[in-house]
Amino acid sequence: MERLQKVLAHAGVASRRKSEQLILDGKVRVNGKTIKELGVKVSSTDKIEVEGVQLEKEQKVYYLLYKPRGVISAVSDDKNRKVVTDFFTDIEKRIYPVGRLDYDTSGLLIMTNDGEFANMLTHPKFEIDKTYVARLKGIPEKDDLKKLERGIKLEDGMTAPAKVKLLSGDKKTGKAIVQITIHEGRNRQVRRMFEAIGYPVQKLSREQFAFLTLHGLNAGESRELSAHEVKLLR
Ligand code: URA
Repeated sequence: MERLQKVLAHAGVASRRKSEQLILDGKVRVNGKTIKELGVKVSSTDKIEVEGVQLEKEQKVYYLLYKPRGVISAVSDDKNRKVVTDFFTDIEKRIYPVGRLDYDTSGLLIMTNDGEFANMLTHPKFEIDKTYVARLKGIPEKDDLKKLERGIKLEDGMTAPAKVKLLSGDKKTGKAIVQITIHEGRNRQVRRMFEAIGYPVQKLSREQFAFLTLHGLNAGESRELSAHEVKLLR
């Protein structure tokens, strides 16, 4: 079940705010009954009409974006910074990112107009592996990385055990490249995990989401997911 105004927005009727106004103006009917208050939830079997015209189901689309650094994982930004939907201006559907990558993080981001799919992929219970490559200030010892493998205390609680691999360490520059796989998705989690062991992240990229990789894409490029890939993710 989803809120009526969200369904209208996702179907491409109007923005979320304008959809709310359509409801308040009494222009929306659900199963023949005019709805005038916000907050009503509808399911995919409900018949929805806007100004007497029945809503067509918007075709669902799924993309994989290689998000560059310096881009907001949202559909708009009040400071007018570049947002991930700017890479999809030729697509008429209202797509949005599945989860978020920090402004300064690059890497793999799924974009879709399928709310149910997006909710599923971001729900902690599905424990989808996400692999990041981080450049750290300093070269962590094995024991430091072990702390992350066991789980480490952050201000919002213990993290689940992570898979961690030191890819390289350069004594001259004092920097290390570390690969880390987690299945949680807390805010700035990877940065906070490395911070907690005393090795701040200088650069971060998400290289893998479940079985999907950035293979074949450059930063700023995207491709459609195949029907098979979408099926495997469900
Ligand atoms: N962890 C972070 O710290 N940042 C991201 O963007 C993603 C995961």
